[in-house]
Amino acid sequence: MKRIAILGSTGSIGTQTLEVVRENGDIEVIALAAGNNIQLLEKQVREFHPRLVAVWSEEKAEMFAQMVADLHIEVVSGMDGLLEVAKVQEAEILVTAIVGMIGIRPTIEAIKAGKDIALANKETLVTAGHIIMPLAKEHHVKVLPVDSEHSAIFQSLQGGQHKALHKILLTASGGPFRRKTRDELREIQVEDALKHPNWEMGRKITIDSSTMVNKGLEVIEAKWLFDVDVDQVEVVVQPQSIIHSMVEYEDGAIIAELGTPDMKLPIQYALYYPERRYLSGERLDFGKLTEITFERPDTETFYGLRLAYEAGRRGGSLPTVLNAANEKAVSLFLDRKIGYLEIPEIIETCMEKHTVIDHPSVEQILAVEAATYEYIESRWKS
Ligand code: NDP
Repeated sequence: MKRIAILGSTGSIGTQTLEVVRENGDIEVIALAAGNNIQLLEKQVREFHPRLVAVWSEEKAEMFAQMVADLHIEVVSGMDGLLEVAKVQEAEILVTAIVGMIGIRPTIEAIKAGKDIALANKETLVTAGHIIMPLAKEHHVKVLPVDSEHSAIFQSLQGGQHKALHKILLTASGGPFRRKTRDELREIQVEDALKHPNWEMGRKITIDSSTMVNKGLEVIEAKWLFDVDVDQVEVVVQPQSIIHSMVEYEDGAIIAELGTPDMKLPIQYALYYPERRYLSGERLDFGKLTEITFERPDTETFYGLRLAYEAGRRGGSLPTVLNAANEKAVSLFLDRKIGYLEIPEIIETCMEKHTVIDHPSVEQILAVEAATYEYIESRWKS
């Protein structure tokens, strides 16, 4: 019986993780953490019986404790609550399905407590990869990718030696605005950007996919997960999202993972690695598949991707600025306070005015995040 804890159980990845748990029937859920959605959290608690639950705000945590007063569970709140869930004693794996840099501290605590990490929360690796990966090595814990592209790379790497890896071919759907011009993008509204052609995901990552900043974050995520330079990661636009990513070895051989777009596959692979299990759902039917096409990404129009390469190359605190500026800009866009094209503009301005700190500590990362938020609020918030 595997035992897991989940940060962000009420979100897109969190709920799909629980579907995998339900389908397999041999995983015990020890602890869950969520933000606001205490109605869904209650349903999850009644079905999966964790012994520890974290709700972000103290007020909601109190409401939640009353809702489940008939069950024997401990309800905690705030960052301390997230940390408790992250290092809960019985769990072997922590699924980090929370969104944003708030995942850094819980991920670090979980690693120190010897938990393997099933990592969806890419923002943590983008900003603190230089801390997380050496720490994981020191504590002999695995960081298993949940992001579909990184899972595909991880799966493709099972077939060869890391020292013979030449480059990573990170696929991208190109998002809903592929082939649009910058003028056309000016008019984009929140509703348009929330429609992803192939994947159903949380709001923030859906916007990030449309701007291609998500792909940029994934390039930096790949750098840390697979110990490569960002320039060894090439983005290939493959609009049908059939090829989930590929690796090219020194001899020119390319190994890929293909399938229908279903996040349950990478989630299940991370939970049971190295075991492969049956997974229900649609299969790729090559008789029906009409085409798989490829393009280069348009980094002039979607220059958030170019900015991410710059941040990844320079390293230090610059990826934190990229990520924090993006988080804030996306949230302002979702609140209809800025236009769509202002998202990359804000990121670029913040990156230009930042003085990079090499090897930032967690405290410095969080301070850079706060300073970036503050600067954006002072300049852009209406
Ligand atoms: P969602 O927005 O759907 O879910 C986020 C989850 O985090 C929710 O459960 C939310 O709780 C919880 N949460 C947010 N803030 C807090 C907080 N302060 N304390 C506790 N819980 C909190 O996001 P996704 O599932 O889409 O994405 C999660 C992560 O996975 C992101 O880093 C994303 O980039 C990555 N990812 C997602 C993919 C996808 O297909 N969705 C694919 C690959 C990676 P609540 O809803 O209750 O407020």
